[in-house]
Amino acid sequence: MSGEAEGGCACGAVRYRLASEPLFVHCCHCLNCQRQTGSAFVINLLIEADRVEVVTGEPMPVDVPRDDGSTQRIFRCPSCQVAVFSEYGWPELLFVRGGTLDEPSGIEPDVHIYTRSKLPWVTLPKSTPAFDAYYDTRKLWPAASLERLDAIRALRS
Ligand SMILES: [Zn+2]
Ligand SMILES: [Zn+2]
Repeated sequence: MSGEAEGGCACGAVRYRLASEPLFVHCCHCLNCQRQTGSAFVINLLIEADRVEVVTGEPMPVDVPRDDGSTQRIFRCPSCQVAVFSEYGWPELLFVRGGTLDEPSGIEPDVHIYTRSKLPWVTLPKSTPAFDAYYDTRKLWPAASLERLDAIRALRS
């Protein structure tokens, strides 16, 4: 991905623009993501909420139950209900759904997570780090992304 990326829901009521590159790109194979998407995995672009500019529409928060008893807030188009992004407890950090970008072909995961529930026919590229569950952000993220993460943490404290 290079420069500004734009995306939106299916009906066009919600349109967004990413003001910068994402911090990191997850491909998550967990069962929650499989259930939420009805697919084999989800592609999430992690990015500061204030770098996701909603150009039109008002994504509607829906709290969705997860297997661990918690809920996950998913933002959907109020009209066509397509999920455009979600958050995992930190409103300052959004997980933008890669498939809602206008040009998703530019997106490549930086990491594959929760591969313990990966569907057996999905073959992962050897060149991309993959983990049974989660991973150590400090070990994997580039320095510039860690700096941005620290800025989010500073906002929260
Ligand atoms: Zn829509
Ligand atoms: Zn997941």
